[in-house]
Amino acid sequence: MIVLLAVSALGLDRLVNARGFQLYGGITPRVETSAKVVALTFDDGPDPAGAGPLLDTLAEAGVPATFYLTGRELAQHPELGARIAADGHEIGNHTYSHERMVLVSPDFVAREIEDTDALIRATGYAGEITFRPPNGKKLLALPRYLAEHERRTITWDVEPDSYPDVAASPARIVDHADEHVRPGSIILLHAMYPSREQSLRAVGPLIERLRDRGYEFVTVSELLAHEGR
Ligand SMILES: [Zn+2]
Repeated sequence: MIVLLAVSALGLDRLVNARGFQLYGGITPRVETSAKVVALTFDDGPDPAGAGPLLDTLAEAGVPATFYLTGRELAQHPELGARIAADGHEIGNHTYSHERMVLVSPDFVAREIEDTDALIRATGYAGEITFRPPNGKKLLALPRYLAEHERRTITWDVEPDSYPDVAASPARIVDHADEHVRPGSIILLHAMYPSREQSLRAVGPLIERLRDRGYEFVTVSELLAHEGR
């Protein structure tokens, strides 16, 4: 009843699109901290088009990142998931199908998340598995599941390649990140698909620029440990 009132009061569309609000459980777009730490996160995949060069860049830079992978793509490319884990990165759950998790049944949500968790564990990754909804959208059945299972939902506060004019140029992606980042930021990039070559090319220079500004790169779990410190 409270849920229905909240939906009608706020308007369904606004609720679906609100990245900083959901009905149950917490959502984290960034962490409150004075430490100059940021998390670099990559959504979707693993995809063979960009996984190799992306992982090479991160390894050369010595940067641990957090990958929000889909179960469907992990099932198709288990060797890429295994390399991400072996390279010491964090792996998060981005659902199995990448369908919009809006007005779906509780059973559908549970399958989407638990099947993906199992595939993430099969990579050898043993740390906390945080959750990031596809398209940042979530409603009713999904938030209820996440709250009941005490799953942490991670979004972002810096998203350079979400803006087409910025996404078209590695230099603009780096400048955008530089202008918007602050201590505790969570940076979102998509760098594995062939269409995202500009993002892939931005990763090395972006790391260099933010390090020049005094930032240290940590995984999402490490960043969460800085909350309030
Ligand atoms: Zn996605």
